Amino acid sequence: MSVSLWTRILVGTVLIGWAVLSYGLVRGAMEDVLPDAGDVLADIVMTMLLMVPMLFLTPLWFLSCLSRHTHARKRKSRGDCCECGHTLGVGFDQPCPECGSDQRLKPIETRRLVVSCLVIWLCAGLVGSGITETIARMDEKSFIHAHEHGMFHPKSRSRAWPLWGSLKWDEATRSAKGSFLEGRSSFLDFSTGL
Ligand SMILES: [Zn+2]
Repeated sequence: MSVSLWTRILVGTVLIGWAVLSYGLVRGAMEDVLPDAGDVLADIVMTMLLMVPMLFLTPLWFLSCLSRHTHARKRKSRGDCCECGHTLGVGFDQPCPECGSDQRLKPIETRRLVVSCLVIWLCAGLVGSGITETIARMDEKSFIHAHEHGMFHPKSRSRAWPLWGSLKWDEATRSAKGSFLEGRSSFLDFSTGL
């Protein structure tokens, strides 16, 4: 596989990973259980805010494309073929007689590059949020199912990874509730002595 593909896989993984973790934090902090579409949308918006630092990583997606372009421009300015380096002479605009490649270099459009970065960033945020929302719902449904069917299950337990906080069963209302500063965050000693 090419370096370009590896870079894209790496950037994509980091972006989606960051979104998964951010959504896990936001979703836990909101303390909702099986939230409706409006609440999910609000969680996604907050996740995108936590994704802002990742905007600086997104241009790496185009790194090899940009470096190839710079390389080709250098060759052209020396009078060589952009693609194979065959000597053509400065100002030669016909296809290369050696490799047949087009010698007219298209300039890189900054606006298109910025829009592409934003689209990649947004897609990664949505995919990451979707993954975590799916995990959260499966976890909440299994917790509720266990209690509704009287299975042996603790009254309170940590949410599934990567979600923060814990789930609690309220016998009076026979419903599940979310709690942020218990469970998963206890390893940070937030709840010690409370
Ligand atoms: Zn050539």
